[in-house]
Amino acid sequence: MPEEKKRECIFCKIARGDITTSKIYENSSFFSIPDANPVVDGHSLIISKRHFSTTLDLPEDLGIELVDCIKKTALKLMKDKEVNGFNVINNNFKTAGQIVEHVHFHIIPRKNDDGIDILN
Ligand code: AMP
Ligand code: ZN
Repeated sequence: MPEEKKRECIFCKIARGDITTSKIYENSSFFSIPDANPVVDGHSLIISKRHFSTTLDLPEDLGIELVDCIKKTALKLMKDKEVNGFNVINNNFKTAGQIVEHVHFHIIPRKNDDGIDILN
């Protein structure tokens, strides 16, 4: 990816610290933050520290840290938001609804009978 595009990428700016956000959790390859436009209370994003466009570009050896970041973030949200479930959603390419072209995973906290309809 051209350096200029990386400079402009919103999630690269957050990863570099050019934009300050409250981090929920981080390890050496991923961090999590609250989504700026939450669909439910606690909606959060797992973001890679390095710029990769989609999951297809993610090196396999980052898998352990990705799962670590998902688990730690979801466990914290389940405790803090007092929910008893969550969805992990990863949009890849415009066709599938990806707006920010820097790989990320949505964590959607879920409550019993919350009326949210995902893949049903
Ligand atoms: P997607 O459609 O999967 O690309 O979703 C991108 C998500 O990033 C959306 O839910 C946005 O609300 C969220 N988003 C965009 N900019 C920011 C930001 N600066 N901080 C937190 N979340 C953001
Ligand atoms: Zn980026």
